[in-house]
Amino acid sequence: MGIIVQKFGGTSVGSVEKIHHVANRVILEKEKGNDVIVVVSAMGKTTDELVRLAGEMTSRPEKREMDMLLTTGEQMSMSLLAMALQNRGYKSTSLTGWQAGIRTEAVFSNARITEVKTNRVESLLNEGRVIVVAGFQGMDENGEITTLGRGGSDTTAVALAAAINAERCDIYTDVDGVYSTDPRYVTGARKLNGISYDEMLELANLGAGVLHPRAVEFAKNYGIKLTVRSSMEETEGTLIEEDAPMEEHLVVRGVAFDKDIVRMTVVGLENELTGFPAVFSILAENHIDVDIIIQSKLDTGKVNLSFSIKESSLDETLQILGRHKDEIGYQEIEHETNLSKVSIVGSGMVSNPGVAAQMFSVLAKHEIQVKMVSTSEIKVSVVVDSNEMIKAANAIHESFGLNRSAVEA
Ligand code: ADP
Ligand code: ASP
Ligand code: MG
Repeated sequence: MGIIVQKFGGTSVGSVEKIHHVANRVILEKEKGNDVIVVVSAMGKTTDELVRLAGEMTSRPEKREMDMLLTTGEQMSMSLLAMALQNRGYKSTSLTGWQAGIRTEAVFSNARITEVKTNRVESLLNEGRVIVVAGFQGMDENGEITTLGRGGSDTTAVALAAAINAERCDIYTDVDGVYSTDPRYVTGARKLNGISYDEMLELANLGAGVLHPRAVEFAKNYGIKLTVRSSMEETEGTLIEEDAPMEEHLVVRGVAFDKDIVRMTVVGLENELTGFPAVFSILAENHIDVDIIIQSKLDTGKVNLSFSIKESSLDETLQILGRHKDEIGYQEIEHETNLSKVSIVGSGMVSNPGVAAQMFSVLAKHEIQVKMVSTSEIKVSVVVDSNEMIKAANAIHESFGLNRSAVEA
């Protein structure tokens, strides 16, 4: 028998009853003769509540203090679950991320895992203990506590699974698998039996919150068998693997959307050759993720540079660009908020020209204005007004034949 890593998200550990229920799911796996490592998120909306509390202290909390605060949420869950398991007669030890050997780069609020030192986890497993690890947290080389970005407990689970050579990593959540799109907003969303790492990675990066993108990256790089399944029902779930067979004749596997996008425009870039790289290296040095980039030449010979970022990075981006105005050389910065990105993903797109055209036609038919576009071999993304996002997602989902009724018919 091997090692199984199970991860339970916020809703799944949202109350005392639910934690007892999670203990049952853990015991089921342990009773099959497996060694079990459990990764837990903070209970329910605890992380949001902690963010709100910080906001009561200051409008600009230091990132270090935010990480100190937010990591307490996961620590509540880990100890409560360990107690529930002990109460059922199972030996269990809870560990913080750093105790479990999760080392990260020295970045607060969105750190990447650099290494997992498994010796402590291994020796506790050898004692027959169930290990409960706090998700979403680690420690950098300076001994500072860091977090992995919202939704990062998935990544803790997959990174541990990779480091310890686990047989499987099961992500238990409040949906029974990965769907063709978010079932909370699109009624026709359909559960997928399987999906490839690459497609899942695109969907996750493009806003499908069911998995943290870096978790999928780890799974792909280390060939981890990853499943997403319900913490409430005993159903199969969705397997994420190297090659998932494409169902039917569909070209598009899924639709993802992401609200809170901002379009920034650096107006009147004086020197295209030096200004363009300067903007992006300065943003990269400050860990600001830039997405769609569009450059347009003005009649004056100067250049406007537009790019999209997450709304949570807006204040910081404005400050950084402001600080480097002379170095970059531009006239002014403009920005547009209340935008969203809607994307289609599918490995079948490479050999199917006309997919983007179909997407634009559907949007035009619904009178939805497209503000930015980006494409790759397996995705097309458009930026639209936020109040059109759900309408766009539903229309596109149906148009590509993804609705449950269409496929089952
Ligand atoms: P957890 O707290 O367990 O980590 P999350 O809220 O992070 O749970 O992720 C589960 C949610 O992801 C679902 O409730 C669903 O609304 C959302 N979601 C977004 N896109 C998808 C998708 N393609 N398939 C399934 N769920 C999705
Ligand atoms: N508790 C963290 C969050 O809400 C991490 C996680 O749940 O994965 O984002
Ligand atoms: Mg999550």
